[in-house]
Amino acid sequence: MLQPPHSSLQVAAVPAQRVPVRDRDQDAPWHTEAVCRRDEAGLFFAPSKEPTAARLSREEAAKRVCARCPVMVECREHALLQPEPYGVWGGLTAAERRVVLARRRRREVELKKAARATANRIAG
Ligand code: SF4
Repeated sequence: MLQPPHSSLQVAAVPAQRVPVRDRDQDAPWHTEAVCRRDEAGLFFAPSKEPTAARLSREEAAKRVCARCPVMVECREHALLQPEPYGVWGGLTAAERRVVLARRRRREVELKKAARATANRIAG
């Protein structure tokens, strides 16, 4: 991960299990197109003991980078499927990804219920 020399926020040391897959998974087809590989990567993970206002500002800045990234959809889906527990991925914070995942789980449950009800109706 490249660190932008002009970043006012320094990223805390990221433990091995928190190293983003965009850095581990060099073979991912979308990886080479990731805008954050070229410069603003310091925006994507929280430094230790980051104040709330600074976190919100940093996350919004990261989201602006994501908004112009050509692989935002692929990155977001990757982060949801892993799932990636930390950082901004695909324009979503970790908290926002948890909300998306919870909605997906609820929708899957509802679809399964509907499928069972349909199967029961057909079976008579
Ligand atoms: S969507 Fe954001 S986090 Fe994902 S590769 Fe692009 S810039 Fe990086």
